[in-house]
Amino acid sequence: MTTYVYDFTQGDKDRADLLGGKGANLAEMTRLGLPVPPGFTITTEACREYLARGDEPGELRVQVTTALRHLEDKVGRRLGTRRDPLLVSVRSGARFSMPGMMETVLNVGLNDESVQGLVEESADERFAWDSYRRLIQMFGATVLGIPAEVFSEALDDAKAAHGRESGRQPVADVDLTAGDLRALVSTYRGIVKDRTGSDFPQDPREQLDLAIRAVFDSWNTDRARLYRRRERIPQDLGTAVNVVTMVFGNLGDTSGTGVAFTRDPATGAAGAYGDYLQNAQGEDVVAGIRNTLSLDDLHRIDPLSHHQLLQAMRRLETHYRDLCDVEFTVERGHLWMLQTRVGKRTPAAAFRIATALVDEQLITEDEALQRVTGEQLASLLFPQFATGPSDDGAAPRAVTSGMAASPGAAVGTVVLRSSEAVAAAERGEHVILVRRETNPDDLGGMIAAQGILTARGGKTSHAAVVARGMGRTCVVGAEDLDVDEDAGTVTVRSSAPDASPTVLHAGDEISIDGSTGEVFLGSVPVVPSPVERYLEEGLDAVVGADGSDGGLDEQTESLLRSVDRLLRHADARRRLRVEANADVPDDAARARRLGAQGIGLARTEHMFLGERRALVEQIVLADDVTERDIALDRLLPLQRDDFRGLLEAMDGLPVTIRLLDPPLHEFLPDHTELAVRVAVERARREHGEGALPDDELAADTTKLAALERLHEANPMLGVRGVRLGLLVPGLFAMQVRAVVEAAVGLVREGKDPRPEVMVPLVGSVRELQIVRDEVESVVRGVTELAGVDLEVPVGTMIELPRAALTAHRIATEADFFSFGTNDLTQTTWGFSRDDVERTLFSTYLDNGVLTISPFETIDADGVGRLVRIAVEEARATKPGLELGVCGEHGGDPESIRFFHDVGLDYVSCSPFRVPVARLEAGRAATAAAPSSTR
Ligand code: PEP
Ligand code: MG
Repeated sequence: MTTYVYDFTQGDKDRADLLGGKGANLAEMTRLGLPVPPGFTITTEACREYLARGDEPGELRVQVTTALRHLEDKVGRRLGTRRDPLLVSVRSGARFSMPGMMETVLNVGLNDESVQGLVEESADERFAWDSYRRLIQMFGATVLGIPAEVFSEALDDAKAAHGRESGRQPVADVDLTAGDLRALVSTYRGIVKDRTGSDFPQDPREQLDLAIRAVFDSWNTDRARLYRRRERIPQDLGTAVNVVTMVFGNLGDTSGTGVAFTRDPATGAAGAYGDYLQNAQGEDVVAGIRNTLSLDDLHRIDPLSHHQLLQAMRRLETHYRDLCDVEFTVERGHLWMLQTRVGKRTPAAAFRIATALVDEQLITEDEALQRVTGEQLASLLFPQFATGPSDDGAAPRAVTSGMAASPGAAVGTVVLRSSEAVAAAERGEHVILVRRETNPDDLGGMIAAQGILTARGGKTSHAAVVARGMGRTCVVGAEDLDVDEDAGTVTVRSSAPDASPTVLHAGDEISIDGSTGEVFLGSVPVVPSPVERYLEEGLDAVVGADGSDGGLDEQTESLLRSVDRLLRHADARRRLRVEANADVPDDAARARRLGAQGIGLARTEHMFLGERRALVEQIVLADDVTERDIALDRLLPLQRDDFRGLLEAMDGLPVTIRLLDPPLHEFLPDHTELAVRVAVERARREHGEGALPDDELAADTTKLAALERLHEANPMLGVRGVRLGLLVPGLFAMQVRAVVEAAVGLVREGKDPRPEVMVPLVGSVRELQIVRDEVESVVRGVTELAGVDLEVPVGTMIELPRAALTAHRIATEADFFSFGTNDLTQTTWGFSRDDVERTLFSTYLDNGVLTISPFETIDADGVGRLVRIAVEEARATKPGLELGVCGEHGGDPESIRFFHDVGLDYVSCSPFRVPVARLEAGRAATAAAPSSTR
């Protein structure tokens, strides 16, 4: 029989696939002897079966009964009884954290009977009725699908009624008396009856079963699907469900609930960090509904619980050897741990924590590399606000500030609704989403906005957690803001007593600093990130070790040192060489500064645009040899200069120059335009009104005939790459001559040029053989004449399935292969790389055919399989063959891991991704051979 239910004493942290992250870690904390309320976890497998069949597997109910009975026996209480009732929470918990995306129902087990038991047990009538109304409210919205506003309006009415009776205004939730809450329960039950036609279920087991179903169902809500798409979490994992004995943070001021981190998740600074709310339950902290207290405040209020919490957190950090976050509740002075996990953190914190843990000798340097990602490094390359005076001499002045929740500098116009943020982003506008607080329905707006600003909530509020996860700039808890969505205004109260408030309107421009929490009016100039500067100029130049004014704060300096240390470790450990795709000397030089070890792809197409295009036209359309040779001769010196610049910038390092690979039509006159011109002229002449000289019409007519001969219905599958080289004699020879002459010139100047020639779009070994013979003969001719010794390796791109499948033959004629995974993806899938992302992908991503664009991350099963076959079979023919990749995938973290595993020698990517590739290549190497002490 399949086991669908695990008691917390049975699981452990390594079973997150089955138990979800929350369930696995609750089990782990239970094993560690930390104070976890007893409970059990229903597996993700049960959820998957439920979602597939539309019904729970039969054994599930039986296993829940058994687990529930064990739980009741353990705590000595029964669900739904009149005397000392057991209450449980029913919590979602998937393999990967999806903050706030799925459902939770608290206080399950309360009914008209057991609420009396709770009154007696807690000796707090108000608390018991408040718990009951919370259950009906949450259950009503989550399980029964009644709009949440219906309940919150009834709550507001109850507060207003209380206000009228007591003569006090305004009234908060906590002012409501036991009598008010009892009346509210009755109102809520009326709502349930009206809306569903049935009574609120009094049978606690029915409540439990329905709540479990609701959690399963919440896996597939639109917002959860959207979140997973964005985070690249597979849509078919399902969620686990945790059934946990309720403990109460809302039993008065000796109780409370909180969220804490073992280190600061925003900066990585050492020391526990957290938010606490007295007399609060469940999600109140995360929802950011009330402003929170710090852990120091908890120390003041309840030193014992504070001490126990810090002990537990130290234990967790030692055990997981990483930053952990926890959710905890204090029930009348007793600490309970409700959740832990290895905590999310900002990219800067990730780097600082990784090296700090190495210094504390908790992890090895190899492990430290696994704690940071290329994506995090990429996000540290974001610009920041200039801190000095702006152009007009005035330093930008913050109009207000909140908490720095997720770093970065964001400038945009104010929008107050998520739907407006989405619409504005579709128009290409930059916006800042300003909200009182965010909730999971704001996800679309948060993705669309440049930055997020909220008036309420702490560093662990929904806005903060989600924005950090997606690397979006975010400031939360800017308490001076009054956000009035209906009026479309944000009022900034001034702290100066007599100053009038500033009123912002939707559409006004603001700037927010996610690293300091500051909010500025207007658009503040931004400067490059210090990490970017460090990468370009080196550590010494930036931290001021060379005597220059580094001007960095301690935190930034420590970040740069961490990035430098981990990058250097990655460089020492990686097997993959990292080269750059660069076609102009500036890019080549930049790539070199960023650590590129050569150019893996210099495309030559752009060298034939502008004024040179007419020469290409002449070469391709020429119908006599002389005309073609004249054009080739004119191109030669221009190309020589192009190549000289690249070889010089990469002196001493390989420069792989790819022979021309155009879709031919891009270089020829527009067919329609020319056809119309000729037709119009002919028609005019019929009426004796010709406007063109005879020779011009004749030339146009010949050109048109040639164009018609060469016209292609699918130019991307047409005369490209090697095919053009074979069709147009002399073209490749001219390019190779230019390369070799440039190199010879540099050798004579004492330089060390290392050109390599790469042939594009080869599908048959014979194509390569013909071009190779030609290349070798040109190289021989030029070098012998100059008396210079120069090796020029000749290789090919592998960008067609046929090339991959006949790699064992092609290898005989190649010194190296470079996988052109852009074209290989296009031709393997039969997707047009120019249009398919626009036309098809959003549907394909929605319905799960794709989880990510195969043009972004290598499709390991299909395209990747071709790469693997080619690698294995080519190496069988020629063991020493150099193998690399130069498609866009060469800079994509996940693809880099694939290329490492498949045994390539190098990746080549755009210059700005070179540091990312260096880091990821190091991570791939250390993941393969971890020196783990785990
Ligand atoms: C490729 O196809 O992957 C490639 C690098 O060539 P291009 O993008 O220039 O077609
Ligand atoms: Mg290509």
